Amino acid sequence: MTKIMIDAGHGPDTAGKRSPDGALREFSFNSAVADLVKQYLIEEGVTVIFAHKEQEDVPLAARTKLANNMKVDAFVSIHANAFGGDWNNANGIETFIYPTASKESYALAALIQNSLVSACNRTDRGVKKADYAVLRDTRMPAVLLECGFMTNREEALLLMKKTYRIQCAKAIAFAITAWIYRGKK
Ligand SMILES: [Zn+2]
Repeated sequence: MTKIMIDAGHGPDTAGKRSPDGALREFSFNSAVADLVKQYLIEEGVTVIFAHKEQEDVPLAARTKLANNMKVDAFVSIHANAFGGDWNNANGIETFIYPTASKESYALAALIQNSLVSACNRTDRGVKKADYAVLRDTRMPAVLLECGFMTNREEALLLMKKTYRIQCAKAIAFAITAWIYRGKK
């Protein structure tokens, strides 16, 4: 059976990870979407394991170690973006993979990015490469998604809305399911 690790980035009290007015904490978005993705994937018969905990900011090394020990088939880290610490016009959705990521990682990233952009109708910032620990230290396809900017007034409002969280989660779960059934497993 396919096992997917879903990672809600950061923790409930992680410093700085919030909108400029403090109304939105990044973890509240990340973890709400993770809960929904889990629900949708279970309906598809996929096993879901969380890398995060609701009460604490699990260190990145513990998250990647758990993924490697559990031998999950993919690691999907959910985030909301920020550009600087004040309101500005940076906007849209982007997905990251490791610079030397496998074709399977890229395929998963492209499916999620396209699915999110079309479901959420936001600017497509594309699939990008970055040396992030959760991408580098995981021994399976790994992607990190940024579902909109907390530093953009319009997107911060969206990120707080249940309807937007459901849109994101459905798009992510749809893409993961498509990736699983494209012959990977
Ligand atoms: Zn983040």
